[in-house]
Amino acid sequence: MKIVVTGGLGFIGSHTVVELQNEGFKVIIVDNLSNSKIEVLNQITSITGIKPQFEQFDLLDKERVNTLFNNNKIAGIIHFAASKAVGESVEKPLLYYQNNLGSLLNVLDAMLATKQDHLIFSSSCTVYGQADQMPITENAPRKDAESPYGNTKKIAEDILLDTTNAYKYNAIALRYFNPIGAHPSAKIGELPIGIPQNLIPYVTQTAAGIRKELAVFGADYPTPDGTAIRDYIHVVDLAKAHIVALKRLIEKKNKTNLEFFNIGTGKGSSVLDVIKAFENSTKKKLNYKIVARREGDITEAYADTTLANTELGWKAEKSLENALYDAWQWQLKQ
Ligand code: UDP
Repeated sequence: MKIVVTGGLGFIGSHTVVELQNEGFKVIIVDNLSNSKIEVLNQITSITGIKPQFEQFDLLDKERVNTLFNNNKIAGIIHFAASKAVGESVEKPLLYYQNNLGSLLNVLDAMLATKQDHLIFSSSCTVYGQADQMPITENAPRKDAESPYGNTKKIAEDILLDTTNAYKYNAIALRYFNPIGAHPSAKIGELPIGIPQNLIPYVTQTAAGIRKELAVFGADYPTPDGTAIRDYIHVVDLAKAHIVALKRLIEKKNKTNLEFFNIGTGKGSSVLDVIKAFENSTKKKLNYKIVARREGDITEAYADTTLANTELGWKAEKSLENALYDAWQWQLKQ
């Protein structure tokens, strides 16, 4: 029995494949290499000692998706594959709706046609927008998305709601907070294309001298130090949440056909907290300056992780310092 991991050569996907293989699962990676590198396959093999099966194709290719499901005994699907650049999604919304929703529909069609069950879906805390209360529980209302990318996550959740309801298959949507860090081996990590849009790759590239200085987007937020607050979670902790969720479905421990879990640390950190923690853990000084807010950014988001802790029996173990240290070691290897 195999686990299909779509987008398995990407940032979160590759770390999840490592954890799956460490737990004894056989993995089939499906990835079109649109935002990942084939070298990651060798790195996964080097960390785990096992080369996962790799299928290079686009999930919009319905024939290929159907063939994959027809030709393999599949025990579960972890669906990561998606375009994820928020800014690009504003410029090219059609591409984002096509890629992110079209691929999900093809996977669901093939799953249901072959009577497969057990889907883990990558959702995001962006579905909450600026939540009214912190920490954010799974019951917090979902808000209008700030970008087509965010909207694809929201619509994907709706697709899961309607289809699990109609076809009675089982799925878990994990709502990630801010995934950061890299594997402690420094063999896999985040590979941003061009100028990083996310905070941590920008921080590590600045410390490495690739970027001159970090722009801190806004110090006039209603937070203790004026900078925006997020819940940064180590990617290895996040990867492990997928294994626990998958086992929950395989062992039929889920309480409803579709369940949602927040996956974060439960701790909010400001941009200045991140800079301090980076300097502490790496002993590197970071050049930064405060600039205007970035459009579309919210003030704060951090998770109430009670449900994940009690129901999934999962808890983030690694600290912010630890994640930043691992991100830095990864940067040094680039
Ligand atoms: N941020 C920043 N400078 C950057 C990139 C990000 O100050 O170059 C801030 C951003 O405004 C937000 C936080 O860092 O408050 C996390 O941003 P990121 O894009 O990593 O994740 P988001 O939560 O926006 O998805």
